[in-house]
Amino acid sequence: MMRPGNAMIILAGGRGNRMESDVPKQFMSLGGKPVLWYSLNAVQRSELIDEAVVVSSPEFFSDIRAMADRYGFDKVSHLVSGGEERFLSVVNGVRALYEAGEGCETFAGAPEIILVHDAARPFIDDEIIRRCLEGVSASAGCVAAVPSKDTVKLADEEGFVTDEPDRKNVWCMQTPQVFYAGVLKSACEKAYADIEKSRQDLNAMPSITDDAQMVRMYENIPIRLVMGSYDNIKITTPVDLLIAEKILENRSV
Ligand code: C5P
Repeated sequence: MMRPGNAMIILAGGRGNRMESDVPKQFMSLGGKPVLWYSLNAVQRSELIDEAVVVSSPEFFSDIRAMADRYGFDKVSHLVSGGEERFLSVVNGVRALYEAGEGCETFAGAPEIILVHDAARPFIDDEIIRRCLEGVSASAGCVAAVPSKDTVKLADEEGFVTDEPDRKNVWCMQTPQVFYAGVLKSACEKAYADIEKSRQDLNAMPSITDDAQMVRMYENIPIRLVMGSYDNIKITTPVDLLIAEKILENRSV
């Protein structure tokens, strides 16, 4: 039996302001290669992913194309411009998958499942991908996550604690965030319609920082959490790059 077509949207469209570097984090060097290389390599080697769309600022298109050519990353089917916000980058990636129509060798037309992944997380692997795909078959949306090691508190804008969730129920979201394609597409189009409206009234647009939030908000489907990995860090601030170098060193010994 043929399995469903699985496409990954790799988000590399951020500016990385928290990294205090001119080069966005996904293009900084890790073990001598751009951080993005590791996600592309994982996708290329994975039997579970058929096609990848890379979302980035157009100024990096030629570098990404050169990297794909040099390393034989031929699952990269589209390079797409990023949006102002992360979820708008996802919208652009989803539209590219639907507009292309021809799909890739393994499936015709749009994929059945879309995995959204942060290029700033270089340590994605097949075990995480497999758990997410198993999770999405049990529910229409599934996210790789890890139980929080820290106690988490909610605070108001003055820094006073307003809520204290029980740590055993607190999970830190990672990527991939995985959905049936039709569900993600529908949520993206509704979010996009809202942003169009909010151009007149900025307060009307809620802040959307991950895909599961967007899908829950617009499609109201349950989101399943599956175990990601404590190594599956997002490179966000300078110390994360030092930690990533150590993880990489540890993997290659
Ligand atoms: O900003 P944040 O750390 O949440 O970014 C997570 C991922 O989303 C990064 O890989 C970043 O490049 C990507 N991103 C994007 N488009 C944006 C903002 C972030 O593709 N507008």
